[in-house]
Amino acid sequence: MSKKILILPGDGIGPEIIDEAVKVLACLRDDFGLDIDMDEALVGGAAYDAAGHPLPDATLDLAKEADAVLLGAVGGAKWEPLDISVRPEKGLLGLRAGLGLFANLRPAILYPQLADASTLKADVVAGLDIMIVRELTGGIYFGQPRGVETLDSGERRGFNTLVYTESEVDRICRVAFDIAMKRGKRVCSVDKANVLECTEMWREVATRVGADYPDVALSHMYVDNAAMQLVRAPKQFDVMVTTNMFGDILSDCAAMLTGSIGMLPSASLDADGKGMYEPIHGSAPDIAGQGVANPLATILSVAMMLRYSLDAADHAARLEAAVSAVLDRGLRTADIAAAGSKPVGTAEMGDAVVAALRADGEVD
Ligand code: NAD
Repeated sequence: MSKKILILPGDGIGPEIIDEAVKVLACLRDDFGLDIDMDEALVGGAAYDAAGHPLPDATLDLAKEADAVLLGAVGGAKWEPLDISVRPEKGLLGLRAGLGLFANLRPAILYPQLADASTLKADVVAGLDIMIVRELTGGIYFGQPRGVETLDSGERRGFNTLVYTESEVDRICRVAFDIAMKRGKRVCSVDKANVLECTEMWREVATRVGADYPDVALSHMYVDNAAMQLVRAPKQFDVMVTTNMFGDILSDCAAMLTGSIGMLPSASLDADGKGMYEPIHGSAPDIAGQGVANPLATILSVAMMLRYSLDAADHAARLEAAVSAVLDRGLRTADIAAAGSKPVGTAEMGDAVVAALRADGEVD
């Protein structure tokens, strides 16, 4: 049966980069036999303008019915004066909550061709390929009690609660181990077990889950050391799994090792492998409508979708090879172009990926 993909272009550069991703999906469908149906709906500011809400019920219903969701980006200055309950970002949060997307996958990949884009020395980062698995619906961002109270003395006291159940830790660790099985078979679980009891339990559960994956080497690292190691010697990592807050910080740090925000995809998965896929960047209002945005983060999000939700690893590998072939050929959008070189536009980059796909990864 065909897999259903819901396309949500969103705002700003969202529709431009999504157009290129759709071209790629259409090519995989028409030329390589990928069995998919694509539907499209509104989200973010575009949805607010059309329907008065950033996540209309019709969009959420379609997202629930789909096997995977591909999102461009949401937001922009136009909608900033709106009440927070109807700002474009609420559409994104509503999708994550409504679909139960508890596992956030953020790869930090630096194509060797782009090693100069990083602020770190090329030999430290060239060929970097880390997958950070961040727990997305629990931990200190959601724990109760939380708030700010005024003490009898008149001084205010702010508090949040770091809380995880064993089952929450178990399921996110299993996501990480399953991914590691398809990659380098190494998982580093990041915690602060020397200080926080909750993450001492995290470490115990991670170890227990690890026993079910004898082919995967499990290591543990304190979060402060992990931050240091990410900058010192990032290529030591294969898959990292960690809490919501630690993952929030470490994944941004890892993303910036690559120096190219227009290249990085992400996935957020539910318990059954259904996912929402999106580039890590935002709607880039400063370049929207100019046809210069880099579509590769979105196209690489399609590759993640193929691998993690559509059970089509062969198509994913084909697409990643096509992106690599295009970079080999020297094509660069403005964000990754070397000073003085002539960048290509959004559509030209998308067309080049399609051409590389058709040439099965080899571009003449
Ligand atoms: P941004 O990621 O949109 O842009 C940051 C910088 O990176 C800008 O200079 C932009 O031109 C550049 N950039 C981003 N994507 C690019 C691409 N594909 N190709 C070339 N250059 C690219 O972040 P921002 O400026 O802080 O936010 C802009 C809007 O996006 C805000 O409304 C914000 O709330 C929203 N936002 C949305 C998401 C999302 O939809 N997931 C994520 C982050 C920010």
